[in-house]
Amino acid sequence: MNKNKVIRSQQLRFMVYTLIAFTILFGIFGTIIFSQIKTTLYAKTDTDLNGYKMMIETGGRGTANGANPDKNSFSDKNGFPPPPDIGGRLGFNPRVIPIQWNKEGKIANIQQIGFINYENYFSSLKFDPATVGVISNMSINSTYHFRTISVPLPSETGSYIQLMVNVDSEQNLIGNFKRIIIICSIIFILLSITASFILSRKMMKPIIRSWDKQVEFVENASHELRTPLTIIQNKLELMQTTPEKRIIDTFENIALSLSETRRLSRLTTDLLTLARADSTETQLEKQMIDLDEFVHKVCSPYAEIAELSEKHMWLKLHSQTRLEADPARLHQLLVILLDNALKYTREHDSIGISTSIKENKVYIEVSDTGIGISEEGLSRIFDRFYREDRARSRESGGSGLGLSIAQWIVDSHHGSIQALHNQPKGMIFRIRLPK
Ligand code: ADP
Repeated sequence: MNKNKVIRSQQLRFMVYTLIAFTILFGIFGTIIFSQIKTTLYAKTDTDLNGYKMMIETGGRGTANGANPDKNSFSDKNGFPPPPDIGGRLGFNPRVIPIQWNKEGKIANIQQIGFINYENYFSSLKFDPATVGVISNMSINSTYHFRTISVPLPSETGSYIQLMVNVDSEQNLIGNFKRIIIICSIIFILLSITASFILSRKMMKPIIRSWDKQVEFVENASHELRTPLTIIQNKLELMQTTPEKRIIDTFENIALSLSETRRLSRLTTDLLTLARADSTETQLEKQMIDLDEFVHKVCSPYAEIAELSEKHMWLKLHSQTRLEADPARLHQLLVILLDNALKYTREHDSIGISTSIKENKVYIEVSDTGIGISEEGLSRIFDRFYREDRARSRESGGSGLGLSIAQWIVDSHHGSIQALHNQPKGMIFRIRLPK
């Protein structure tokens, strides 16, 4: 799988998804605003039209605002609605043009609507049955826009009153708003493309980082596995060329092969631990433990080993606390730190282990007066396969995975681990765990 190709296609996919999400969101937002504005703009006109419709249907017993019937109002001899009652006064929305259609489908109230108006606008108008009882939009000469409704006249079958309200200004407003929304959408989509590009790049960064780490990990692991395998292979091939030799004569080769086999076994166990840690497959089996007693038990054999190599080991176990932890993992953590302390100290150096409680946190410190580490090493010490002195570390059986495992153990117990310089020399590993 080509890394760049995969990254590019993944980035493109992220970008498209983000762009689609942005566009949908803005689309919904624009549609809601647009339809809201449209309904609000027509609301007053539609209320008026419905009021007049009701008035005509009830023969004048309804009003434009649906109350206070005026018994004499629907008495016009031309049959179009009289002015409605608006709060005690007689009022008629001057924008409403009532057109009376007779049985023959001709306009019967030309005088009322005015001859000039009729000639200019309504002479070509035909009665549209689709407007009966339904408020709809219509336009005259594609220039003048109206909101209209037709109501059958109860007094004269086949005749209708068509109420028309000019809505040119509303249409204008809606048209302008539509234009603004379209322009905004285009600008927004262009901005979204840029934003999606930047976001997708940002989203890809941790993926690229973990990809690189993974590749580095596999490369390091294969390298670490190859070295002991090559040694074992060479030694075995050498023994194969001299079959007449006795075991005692090739003892050195056998011992070396065995030690490399042990190393391989340790390495594969470490790799497996880290792989499981990455996949969060490993479950902790926590139980309450007496911390001081536990640390004392783990350190005892190391005190003997230290003594044998003329190093001094001291314990200051003052936490006097019980802790909920996975004993197997805590044991592994202490072993990693004690192993390192022994590996990286010389004769007459000292190694100290202490436990304490500070601000309701449990502290475990493993310190030594050994060779210490450089500033750069200190910042990379928990990286997988990091070894300050490769040759020396290999000699002592190290692979650079111990502290990565230690960090994972501490993390999985919701604690933290810190590596510090010891004064005047050596290292301190400070573990902080929740109580
Ligand atoms: P290793 O198996 O090589 O010891 P670790 O992950 O345990 O791997 O340690 C990584 C590196 O950190 C070591 O190679 C060594 O350089 C450095 N290191 C760890 N512990 C100590 C210590 N107590 N004193 C000095 N250096 C240390």
